[in-house]
Amino acid sequence: MRTVAVIGGGASGILAALTAAEDAENHVVLFERQQRLGRKLLATGNGRCNLTNTAAAPEHYHGAEADFVRPALAVFSTQDTLDYFHGLGLLTQEEYGGRVYPLSNSANSVLDVLRFALARAGVEQRLAAPVREIRRHKKGFTLRTDEDERFCHALIVACGGCAGGKLGGVKDGYELLAPLGHKCTGLYPALVQLITAPEYPRALKGVRCPARLTLRSGEAVLAESEGELQFTDTGVSGPAVFDLSRAASTGGAGLTLHIALLPLTEAELFALLLRRREQYPTLETGETFTGMLHNRLGRMLVRYTGIDAAAPLGVLKERDLHRLAAAALDFCLAVRGTEDFDHAQVTAGGVKTTGFNPETLESWFVPGLFACGEVLDVDGDCGGFNLQWAWSSGRLAGRLGR
Ligand SMILES: Cc1cc2nc3c(=O)[nH]c(=O)nc-3n(C[C@H](O)[C@H](O)[C@H](O)COP(=O)(O)OP(=O)(O)OC[C@H]3O[C@@H](n4cnc5c(N)ncnc54)[C@H](O)[C@@H]3O)c2cc1C
Repeated sequence: MRTVAVIGGGASGILAALTAAEDAENHVVLFERQQRLGRKLLATGNGRCNLTNTAAAPEHYHGAEADFVRPALAVFSTQDTLDYFHGLGLLTQEEYGGRVYPLSNSANSVLDVLRFALARAGVEQRLAAPVREIRRHKKGFTLRTDEDERFCHALIVACGGCAGGKLGGVKDGYELLAPLGHKCTGLYPALVQLITAPEYPRALKGVRCPARLTLRSGEAVLAESEGELQFTDTGVSGPAVFDLSRAASTGGAGLTLHIALLPLTEAELFALLLRRREQYPTLETGETFTGMLHNRLGRMLVRYTGIDAAAPLGVLKERDLHRLAAAALDFCLAVRGTEDFDHAQVTAGGVKTTGFNPETLESWFVPGLFACGEVLDVDGDCGGFNLQWAWSSGRLAGRLGR
């Protein structure tokens, strides 16, 4: 019998443990620093767990080595993942944008079927057992916890990243791997709210709307996205913002966010505003966008242009209507940064992938050492891509190079 240790009882570590346990020669020990497995998993998808995306492919992933994810995604694709979970008794449903959720709409269901599988596979679970140190031997490793030391023949590090601190996101994985020669890239919060100049967002707090977003550094476009936008106390949030938050986090200072609040061209919107002026010459300018946008948002746009909101529409010049149209199609906020790791869903950056064989996820430097999940320098887009990486890489690492 050989002992296989997995450090980290999150999505990738559980899949790695289950996969290693399929080989009857292996006794698998799963170490988890928290009191229970999969705490972060329970919080995913607002408690619904967006467990994968039917469009999962390398172009939805980021990191220094763009192609690193390819073999893992090929070995354990979205369809393989769905087959696997269906085999464990989970029912799923696909929603908008290829996002897949449990039919129960509860992340508990995902964790529950994994817990049942771990018990059936005879995986030894060491809960509330943070691994503090890895000591390498000629053949194998010793893991030190606060209570004891444990020898293993093969080791899988699945400690996750430092995003979601309140759910157990820590830097342990980076720190445990460093003495073994595995260096880390810079670390940035991603899938996270943007902090902007607060004046307008604060007044619009709670307003949600569909929008097209462009993130710029000077004239250069760093990222674009489309979808739901939400105004918050400190800036902007929502899926469309998450999609460009990685670029905001890594893009340096002096960024601006340009928001198109209507799916119209300037000419189309200008024509609508002309008609409104004709139809309602006595209406207050503050009501210009009534019926087109959320009322608070419409009034805020008028304020943003500096045009007197109390003036009747009939007195506005054509150039004023152009200014109003331009505001709705290019509402610009100065970006001051992103929220921190505690508020982020994922870590951009991680242990350098150049140190691991993408075909097996085994270390190039330390035979018998594997890594999977978010601890590596891989992060995915919003929509189930990060959990798919956790499943795919966990499955591949759990094969232990076979
Ligand atoms: C609020 C939130 C919502 C999210 N929603 C989604 C979503 O809907 N869809 C999606 O695809 N992704 C989502 N994500 C991202 C996704 O949860 C992660 O990318 C994924 O969980 C990473 O899996 P992992 O196994 O690498 O790490 P984790 O799931 O973080 O697991 C790592 C585990 O290792 C343990 N650990 C760390 N150090 C040690 C140590 N020294 N000893 C023992 N154990 C240790 C940790 O306690 C943790 O349980 C969300 C993230 C957050 C924070």
